[in-house]
Amino acid sequence: MRDSLFHLILTVFFISIAMSSFAALQLEDSPTQSGLLRGHVDPGEQVFYAEQQLKIAPDGSFILGFGRDVTPRQSLTLIDAGGVKHIHKFTLKQRKYDIQRINGISKQMMNPSEDDLKRIRKEAQQVAKARQQDSDRLNFQESFIWPVIGRISGIYGSQRILNGEPRRPHFGIDIAAPKGTPVKAPAGGAVTMVHNGMFFSGGTLIVDHGHGLSSSFLHLSKILVKVGDQVAQGETIAQVGATGRVTGSHLDWRINWFDQRLDPAFFVPPMTQEP
Ligand SMILES: [Zn+2]
Repeated sequence: MRDSLFHLILTVFFISIAMSSFAALQLEDSPTQSGLLRGHVDPGEQVFYAEQQLKIAPDGSFILGFGRDVTPRQSLTLIDAGGVKHIHKFTLKQRKYDIQRINGISKQMMNPSEDDLKRIRKEAQQVAKARQQDSDRLNFQESFIWPVIGRISGIYGSQRILNGEPRRPHFGIDIAAPKGTPVKAPAGGAVTMVHNGMFFSGGTLIVDHGHGLSSSFLHLSKILVKVGDQVAQGETIAQVGATGRVTGSHLDWRINWFDQRLDPAFFVPPMTQEP
C-alpha cells in the first residue's frame, strides 16, 4: 500500500514536470516523412533542430521539414525563457513510395560527359545556395494553390527506373500542360534564383517563401521574373515548357525546407478542375 501510494505520488510529480516543461511548445499532430511540421512557442523561447536554431515568427510560429527517408525518430530542443533545456521527442509517420518507369531518355541525359558533369555540379551548387536562404518572410503561412492545373503525370518520392536503370527518386510533382501555360506563384515570396537552361531541369526558377521554405519550378520555356522580385500568390511568374531532361511538356514543382525535399502535394488541396 505504502509502495503504491509512493508510486502514485512519484507519477503525479513526473507528469506535472512534463506538463510544465512542454506547455509552451505546441506541435501539429501526425507529422510525416516528406512533410512540413508547424509548431508554436511562447515569447523568449528558442527551438533547435539538431544543431540548427529555427527562426521564430513574431506570432511564435515556426516550421521544420523532413525529407523522403529521414529517420522516423525525431526530436526538438526547446530552451525556455529561463534558459532551461527541454528535449521533445516525436515520431514521424513513415511513407511508402511508388516505382515509376520512364523510357526514351537520350544517351546524353543518361550518361553525361565529363564536361556535362562539371556543369551539373555547378548548377547544383547554385540551386543549393538559393535554398539555403533563411529569410524573415511569412509567406509559408499562406494556404498554397496549384501553380498549374493539369494532369498529374509524376508524383513525389517515386523510385525511378530510367531506360531500365534504377536512378534517384523523383522529388517533385509533375503536372502535364502545353508549352506556354502560365505558371502561378503557389504562395507569395521573393525570387532567389533564375536560370534559363540547366542541364537536367532546363529553365529553372526558385521562390523563397520564408523560414527556409522554397518552391522550385523546372523545365520552364520562359521565366517572367528576375532575382530579387517580390511575387504575390497567384501571380504569373513563368511559362510551362519541355526544357532539360524531359519526355514532354510539363511543370515539375518542388518544395524544399532548406536541403530537405518535401512533398508539394501536402501543401495544396486535391486538384478539382482540369482544363
Ligand atoms: Zn519531374
